[in-house]
Amino acid sequence: MGIYVIAKKNVADLHTEVLHAGKGDHGEAAIAFTSAGKARNYIAASGWSDVNTVAELAPVDFLQWLNTNYHSGVQFLAVNPVRDEQEQGIAQPVLNIKEELSELAAHLQSKLDEPAAPPPMETREIDVFHCGTCGAVMRQPAGQSPPLCCDHEMHKPAVDRVQVPTHANTAGK
Ligand SMILES: [Zn+2]
Repeated sequence: MGIYVIAKKNVADLHTEVLHAGKGDHGEAAIAFTSAGKARNYIAASGWSDVNTVAELAPVDFLQWLNTNYHSGVQFLAVNPVRDEQEQGIAQPVLNIKEELSELAAHLQSKLDEPAAPPPMETREIDVFHCGTCGAVMRQPAGQSPPLCCDHEMHKPAVDRVQVPTHANTAGK
């Protein structure tokens, strides 16, 4: 599901309108809508149809847009404001952008503090072959026939053990 904002027509970069967040005038608010229809209604009621249109933002783009607003000094996000109510002085619901971003950052940080468990590992034996003629060394999974080198089979002087992730559906085992 996308998030809808009001964007200037014919401008490559997203340029969105900002409003003042109600009677208390406690700062500017960016505007976002949860449906394209609500955004269109707002544009029409504001008489902005000539210069503005609706832009749909994917969630990650919405976050970037929100962050850009925040760093431009916009403190609030008005969600689904209604123009008529605004003009009657009815305060529209707003979110505090810094609080919302901080909450998201805390959520991410909690994931960093508890990283996902590493995949289960298993030990596999690796045969290390050696060519007595040219000195070449070759490693291959244990149990296979010796590789050829310099027209003879290589010797197997060593077995190595490696840790590899266990795959739930390893074929051919
Ligand atoms: Zn060789």
